Amino acid sequence: MGKYIDLHVHTTASDGSFKPYELVKYASEKGLCAIAITDHDTVSGINEAEKAGDKFGVEIIPGLEISVDHESEMHILGYFIKASGNFEAKLENLRLRRNLRNEKIINKLRHLGFDISIDDIINEAQGESIGRPHIASLMMRKGYVKSIYEAFEIYLGEGKKAYYERERISPKEGIELIKCAGGIPVLAHPKYLNQNRLEEVVVELKDTGIQGIEVYYSLNKKEETKRYSRLAKKYGLIATGGTDFHGANKPDIDIGRGLGDFRLEYDVVEKMKFIIS
Ligand code: AMP
Ligand code: FE
Ligand code: FE
Ligand code: ZN
Repeated sequence: MGKYIDLHVHTTASDGSFKPYELVKYASEKGLCAIAITDHDTVSGINEAEKAGDKFGVEIIPGLEISVDHESEMHILGYFIKASGNFEAKLENLRLRRNLRNEKIINKLRHLGFDISIDDIINEAQGESIGRPHIASLMMRKGYVKSIYEAFEIYLGEGKKAYYERERISPKEGIELIKCAGGIPVLAHPKYLNQNRLEEVVVELKDTGIQGIEVYYSLNKKEETKRYSRLAKKYGLIATGGTDFHGANKPDIDIGRGLGDFRLEYDVVEKMKFIIS
């Protein structure tokens, strides 16, 4: 069994295109020994992934990814989540906010002349956490755009024609949500944050309880990885990594390999296990 891992992957429970079983099978074919399932605002893919993990010999780290309010948007990953009724109820509330926002986006698209309904989007999504990638993929299938990328570029991206902001919880609330489930909160893909204020933000997050930073990311430039690695060392944060694999919804990014040069070894999982033990 290989020693390589991927700590950021999406399934059909949110906006990935692989069902949990297929995803784990694929990870094993790619020689990965562990993956974290990090769907947006849901842990509903984890059960199936864990069963498949037993079958294919892939260790599954139960996780998730939540969006919090920071300037534009910030994502926080949670690892080694132990879900409870209370935790599930809070996630359900986050998904409710998603659905309210999706309706607003669909209305804007209809005003722009597209024949799209909420039911179409619910059918397009195979899981309970529905988002813009599902809308993008439907627009592509209907021939309204050539690619998911184009759908974001013209309509769905921040500030674009059919963009509508979602009500988000604060970084503090996001971190507490993960901690209340016994999880390890980690700042996701810092490259999408304002780089001028990054160190300041990392210090604030550390004070709020963040325990890791996603240093290794499929779309990082070498200098970015170096900078995040230095920040992790300086502030005593675990340096995690992941590709943000979404299957066909981000076709250039492969599990465990990103654009081709991503590699992450198992020792970071041991570090995480150590801090929750
Ligand atoms: P939502 O969770 O509904 O706000 O949608 C955000 C998700 O859309 C992110 O998690 C990404 O998976 C995806 N996404 C964001 N920007 C793009 C883009 N330009 N191209 C493709 N997917 C994107
Ligand atoms: Fe996503
Ligand atoms: Fe993200
Ligand atoms: Zn992600």
